Amino acid sequence: MRIEVPEFRLGNVLATSFTGTLSERHGDPVERIPTPRRLVDWLVVSGLAVDSCTPAQLELARELRESIHAAATATAVGDALPASAVRIINDRSVQGRAAAILTPDGTRRWQLSSPSRVEDALGVIAADAIGIISGERDGKLALCASPTCQAAFFDTSQSRTRKWCDMNTCGNRQKKARFVASRRKNLGSAE
Ligand SMILES: [Zn+2]
Repeated sequence: MRIEVPEFRLGNVLATSFTGTLSERHGDPVERIPTPRRLVDWLVVSGLAVDSCTPAQLELARELRESIHAAATATAVGDALPASAVRIINDRSVQGRAAAILTPDGTRRWQLSSPSRVEDALGVIAADAIGIISGERDGKLALCASPTCQAAFFDTSQSRTRKWCDMNTCGNRQKKARFVASRRKNLGSAE
């Protein structure tokens, strides 16, 4: 029997791709890393391959994810950073041991201290989150305009006017909803 698991939504910013593994936080939440195996899958496609994950490591990952979400959301709306979220992000960053490796073709990959160290992968994600929350990187944190989503995303567009965390899901859904609403309105006025 094959158990259906929700697809990943991968963006080009590691930290917000990670927070995106829980989507529709303000609607019917979709958990995209429901099991340790799915976290391993997500880490593999995100360039942080580990060969195993325990339930305790999955818990650590989810705790980091929600802390990044809380800190990124606070930054996007101009609130003070939640102290507990800052502490967890820093703990994961400090406890990760990963080295940046320059490949012969000039790209960067991450080398973890051991294939089973989920903590190393979380350290890389935490450091990425620090980069975007601190404003060190070129871009702006914003919240998705979809009311059921409101995910924090990192807007690197020229004009900094991106509205949705993901064009293919939230963006499209909003467009469709507007289309249906305007058609209803037009039908209503014709009666
Ligand atoms: Zn969204």
